[in-house]
Amino acid sequence: RKDVGRITCGSTALDELIGGGIETQSLTEVFGEFGSGKSQISHELAVTVQLPEEKGGLDGECVFIDTENTFRPERIEQIATGFELDVEETLQKIHIARAFNSSHQILMADKINELIQSGANIKLVIVDSVTAHFRAEYVGRETLATRQQKLNQHLHTLQNIANTYNVAVFVTNQVQARPDAFFGSPTKAVGGHVLGHAATYRIWLKKGLAGKRIARLVDSPHLPEGESVFKIVTEGIVD
Ligand code: ATP
Repeated sequence: RKDVGRITCGSTALDELIGGGIETQSLTEVFGEFGSGKSQISHELAVTVQLPEEKGGLDGECVFIDTENTFRPERIEQIATGFELDVEETLQKIHIARAFNSSHQILMADKINELIQSGANIKLVIVDSVTAHFRAEYVGRETLATRQQKLNQHLHTLQNIANTYNVAVFVTNQVQARPDAFFGSPTKAVGGHVLGHAATYRIWLKKGLAGKRIARLVDSPHLPEGESVFKIVTEGIVD
């Protein structure tokens, strides 16, 4: 792959775990239980993608597909201030799209092409959360196949955008904590399997002691499995 770009997650340890930041032309999935920091990393990346390359960004804008109303401009303000960026300008470069249901979410992903073709310098697409609407709408065993098929198609659209426009795609996926989850690979976690085939990078987030977070890279085709520790502070994600 040519011209792959990387976006810093704010924490050097986390960047190193995934080979130097999240990649363009790839789909990165972060999964973990409620409050593990998935939305926090999403907010961080929405800001860091705007940084110049020498600071770990791609001088670009982002699309933030918000499915659970988790986007917080105040949080962007804190993170942007930490990087000494102009808050208004930073917010303007985040194209917020609120998705009310899964069809709406699919439609929004389909429209990213138009936005890019109209000249927006999009370098990152965030979907927080990519699975929530699908899980809420397709309940029961008999709908599982349809849900999986729709979700796969949606992920395929996102992967196409990543490849066609040299964009990074970052999706979050909430999974329930399982009693055995801390000992093995959580591939059987809800939704884990669905995204397993589509995501190029999968990061599993866990809460650690004293407000720390543990990130583990799982199922990576060309990077070693490993863990790194980071913190969430007012300025965003740090070592
Ligand atoms: P959800 O599935 O509910 O969206 P999540 O995994 O996305 O959960 P986040 O909302 O990203 O979790 O993380 C919530 C945690 O982030 C809080 O519990 C808190 O520890 C931390 N956090 C949020 N905002 C701040 C802040 N301004 N300063 C420091 N820590 C914060």
